[in-house]
Amino acid sequence: MSVRTSEVKSLDYIGKEVMVRGWVYRLRKQKENAFVLVRDDRGGVIQCVFPIDKAASLTIESSIEVTGIVTQDARAPEGGYEIKGKNLKIYNIAGTDYPIGEYQSEELLLDKRHLAMRMRKMVAIAKIRATVLDYGRRWFVESGWMEVTAPIIVKGAVEGGSTLFKLKYFNEEAYLSQSAQLYLEAMIFSLGPVWSLTPSFRAERSRTIRHLAEFSHLEAEAPWVTLEDLLKVQEQLVSYVIQNTIRERAAELAYLRRDIVELKKIEPPFERLTYEKAIEIIKSKGLMITQEDGSKREIQFGDDLNIDSERELTKNVTKPIFVVGYPLSIKPFYVKENPQHRGNGLAADMLAPRGFGEITSGGLREDNIVSITERIKKEGLDPAAYDWYLDLRNYGSVPHGGFGLGIERLMRWITNAEDIKDTVPFPRTISRVTP
Ligand code: ATP
Ligand code: MG
Repeated sequence: MSVRTSEVKSLDYIGKEVMVRGWVYRLRKQKENAFVLVRDDRGGVIQCVFPIDKAASLTIESSIEVTGIVTQDARAPEGGYEIKGKNLKIYNIAGTDYPIGEYQSEELLLDKRHLAMRMRKMVAIAKIRATVLDYGRRWFVESGWMEVTAPIIVKGAVEGGSTLFKLKYFNEEAYLSQSAQLYLEAMIFSLGPVWSLTPSFRAERSRTIRHLAEFSHLEAEAPWVTLEDLLKVQEQLVSYVIQNTIRERAAELAYLRRDIVELKKIEPPFERLTYEKAIEIIKSKGLMITQEDGSKREIQFGDDLNIDSERELTKNVTKPIFVVGYPLSIKPFYVKENPQHRGNGLAADMLAPRGFGEITSGGLREDNIVSITERIKKEGLDPAAYDWYLDLRNYGSVPHGGFGLGIERLMRWITNAEDIKDTVPFPRTISRVTP
């Protein structure tokens, strides 16, 4: 039976024979011995020592099975344990031109992501990601929300036509889903609070460090909720995911040199800032926004918050904040108007601290058939394309709402990654669809 390296590195194994399977991570051949750092299939490593004649043919990334005796040697890297190799079974001798060494460009690492996935940094990120997804799901399950699945091939735009991926669907045109929201809305009438974790697709045309063309979208929708209910759900969910992730993945976060002092303090409540106040703050800091023609001007009421504005609002805060009550003009057609404050939407975005930007977006949905039909028309959309969605307002409409969280945005903050491409194994962007 093979064991993983993390298990071997314990006093219990000293003097015992073990079998470890893995790949040659580093290799040092000396006159008499070969020192082979073996990486197992969960990214752990241990040094194995062989007489040189046995290991002469080994190359970096060759796949091997080592049998030998565990010993302790202070000089051994990665914890002072090593295996005195007895038998070496070789599965495959890797080509000597393995393209990933100690230093290479980010671009090359992206071109060779299928191999770069073996780097310990990538393994650490993948483990953190698995834990983030695990606790994201657990929060909903433990809180009594039902998991559902929405289609990925759809007919209607949720977030606006400019980022739609078109697709030939037999003899008609369809799109890749930008969000499961409209389908989740259809399910609350018989399933109550629901959630889904599905890929969303956006044809983001600009190169940014926080947009992917395909991302993992954790979405939720519930009947009979208020905006405040939804904010509470989001701050609890995010705090729960973070606290459990930093506990279970302390070693991986340390490997990435992520300081978790601030993350440890993430707990509800998060500050609620009105959109008006947010604009005032940005104005008072003198931040200028760039217009389409490249010229700059002062931010004003009615402007959307771009990444610079979001950074300005959060650069000195250590916990996420909610920006609440955006003008309807900068929010999609389904956002419910605040009856106490005409022109304002009952919607909120959660901004991560330290300039990481928006990680969730949500609010109440317009539930009145007349108002939503008007809003669809106002946005230049065809109500006929939303006929099934409008049925939800015709037959037993109820106040309801929900939100969407971008897993990679949350990951970027948790891992302190510069670029969102580093939070997902195989990123999709305007300039990259392979590997
Ligand atoms: P932004 O203004 O940052 O482009 P958005 O307003 O388009 O975001 P929503 O449509 O509200 O975002 O989507 C909900 C959530 O999905 C966002 O809060 C974010 O976490 C995530 N998200 C949106 N677009 C992307 C993307 N292109 N790549 C990764 N995550 C995304
Ligand atoms: Mg967007």
